[in-house]
Amino acid sequence: MALLSGKNALVTGASRGIGRAIALRLASEGANVAFTYLSSAEKAAALEDELKGMGVKAKACKSDAADATAADVLVKDIIETFGSLEVIVNNAGITRDGLLMRMTPEQFDEVIDINLKSVYNVTKAALRQLLKQKNGSIINMSSVVGVKGNAGQANYAASKAGIIGFSKSVALELGSRNIRCNAVAPGFIETEMTAALDPATVKSWGEAIPLRRGGTTDEVANVVLFLASDLSSYITGQVIHVDGGMLT
Ligand code: NAP
Repeated sequence: MALLSGKNALVTGASRGIGRAIALRLASEGANVAFTYLSSAEKAAALEDELKGMGVKAKACKSDAADATAADVLVKDIIETFGSLEVIVNNAGITRDGLLMRMTPEQFDEVIDINLKSVYNVTKAALRQLLKQKNGSIINMSSVVGVKGNAGQANYAASKAGIIGFSKSVALELGSRNIRCNAVAPGFIETEMTAALDPATVKSWGEAIPLRRGGTTDEVANVVLFLASDLSSYITGQVIHVDGGMLT
């Protein structure tokens, strides 16, 4: 039997990059997948079709992860459509890089709202349903930058470190109800987000990675699949690095 058959999943920010790979991987193991996007409507429609072509239910939802009311509406809608919600992948994220000296309050707040507050918004919106089910796996997308810090990314690092603290706290609060919560900390993964980095930075990162290359979106998605499935039934409160050994 497929690892996620009979399970319903929500992946935020899945129109592109890592989120897209996660949505496809969860569906490949039988999960019905609802996912969000903000501006990439065409890519989202194409992904919805692709998921349906895999024989699962799929639903593309335009929903700003930073908006708490939108998160409530989103989760209610998914539960009405699918009947339950067992897997939540809080993946939506952005960067607004700059040295602290030049970082505006808007750049700081935008990153915190979309990367960190969104995790609270969606998790809180789903909490009542998860508690009723006494079953759920929440997977939050952090980053090695949240563990180590990174010059020029004080806002991003703060948001990703916040996700780790949030995930561990949720694991402690909800473990007794059979609800697990873990974080994934990717290193350098080749997506549109990292394509924006200057080539010198990319080269120096590559040289510092023991496996001598960036990771693929599928390599992150495989770890999310593991955390979503019962293969990880005794794992909660952890941060799993998917970084080719970068922080080792
Ligand atoms: P990406 O290619 O830029 O894709 C970001 C996704 O998030 C898109 O689907 C985008 O939707 C969505 N999104 C952005 N703002 C949103 C909002 N307010 N509400 C809902 N959706 C929103 O990024 P990625 O590289 O795949 O990164 C995915 C996650 O992994 C992020 O949390 C990122 O911080 C984390 N991460 C990435 C790397 C890496 O090397 N790439 C490393 C560590 C951690 P639209 O297409 O509609 O804009």
